[in-house]
Amino acid sequence: MTAKNHSVKTRFAPSPTGYLHIGGARTALFAWAYARRHGGTFVLRIEDTDVARSTPEAVQAILDGMQWLGLAHDEGPYYQMQRMMRYKEVIGQMLAAGTAYHCYTSKEELDALRAEQEAKKEKPRYDGTWRPESGKTLPTPPSGIHPVVRFKNPTAGVVAWDDQVKGRIEIANAELDDFIIARADGTPTYNFCVVVDDWDMGITHVIRGDDHVNNTPRQINLLEALGAPVPRYGHLSMILGDDGTKLSKRHGAVSVMQYDEDGYLPEAVLNYLGRLGWSHGDEEIFSMTQFVEWFDLDHITSSAAQFNTEKLNWLNAHYIKLADDARLGQEIHRRLARQGVENTASPDPGEIAALYKDRVSNLNELADSAHAFYVAPHASAELKAQHLTEAAKSALKDLRSRLASADFSPEVLGKTLKETLAATGLKMPQVAIPLRVVLLGQPQSPAIDRVLAVLGRTEVLRRLDQAL
Ligand code: GLU
Repeated sequence: MTAKNHSVKTRFAPSPTGYLHIGGARTALFAWAYARRHGGTFVLRIEDTDVARSTPEAVQAILDGMQWLGLAHDEGPYYQMQRMMRYKEVIGQMLAAGTAYHCYTSKEELDALRAEQEAKKEKPRYDGTWRPESGKTLPTPPSGIHPVVRFKNPTAGVVAWDDQVKGRIEIANAELDDFIIARADGTPTYNFCVVVDDWDMGITHVIRGDDHVNNTPRQINLLEALGAPVPRYGHLSMILGDDGTKLSKRHGAVSVMQYDEDGYLPEAVLNYLGRLGWSHGDEEIFSMTQFVEWFDLDHITSSAAQFNTEKLNWLNAHYIKLADDARLGQEIHRRLARQGVENTASPDPGEIAALYKDRVSNLNELADSAHAFYVAPHASAELKAQHLTEAAKSALKDLRSRLASADFSPEVLGKTLKETLAATGLKMPQVAIPLRVVLLGQPQSPAIDRVLAVLGRTEVLRRLDQAL
């Protein structure tokens, strides 16, 4: 075990209100890689306080997606719903310290206030009625009303941070009002939980989507009021679809597990996501080991990254070629089983993978190619009419009698085919193409001697006998 570098601790903090989508996966990858790069700790935190929208299925989908990608966490998963006592404790401390206060303004009063401010073209904000100030006399709390708790946000100065991606950001405190940190029923609000967690968990670098930029000044003010260290922040720009609009369900596969379903290898998706908004020179293909070695926050672009399905397909083809045959064989087995083809013991799917892995860019395509090895295909009438001529059939009969006793190694099979060519006076394609149509239901395939060897004598003879 190498000692952990306590100076870097990152987290991925998804809300389980849907699947782990591709944007979330990129955020997770960057936070994970930053921790790994610095020998630090990567925390997984499930932000499940929105009880109306959080579901156990979504939690599971996030855990599955992280596991499929291989983004292992060192700590957690922490669940915010299990930390309620702690949030309430901190709220109590803030009330006692005077950095937060009870507010009894009712919803109706807030609505009226907002309408008034909007009519005056002012930004809607809480008017500070219940905010304690020295020398100010507060109204008498109305009876029977449960107050909310508001944070006493500083009124002067600016909140500023050097965003690791976007550069310096400054917000005037006058722009921020005293936001609610606990609702009337006592439940803490989103920004508050994030702050207590980042503090308690010792997070040093918050890497997240830039939809949270507006929360950051509030979170920094809260951390400072608590006397907690302020982490560094890096906000990642959004991902656009192939067509340049915000990535959404319309663009097809947005859930990470959908990519598995659609035939992508996790290393292709990871490599692809690694390049989505980050670069290391012109490097396009890198392993995760290499990525972790290179990864930094300085080379993240602050502009939106555009999704490019063609590039992902290209990477997928690359990683399929590199993948181990036995592993690809398991993918074939799993994918064919989904189509109801359960028995893929023989021929060995790993051998079929070896035949096809250079020719496909997708695991489903690979499984589709393997299908004909397990379920005898029916060539279309047109294909048969075109290729199974009388001359072809008599050549295949000649071949069949030789194959009945030939050794089924590619070398011997190659020689056997040549013997048929010599006996019939035909050229290789005139025999090989009809043979493919009979064996696999289509005129193209990898080298026919290898196809014969993988399919095996019994099945080859059976298919030939059926066709002739
Ligand atoms: N739970 C938030 C989300 O899923 C992320 C919060 C954060 O990273 O600070 O968008």
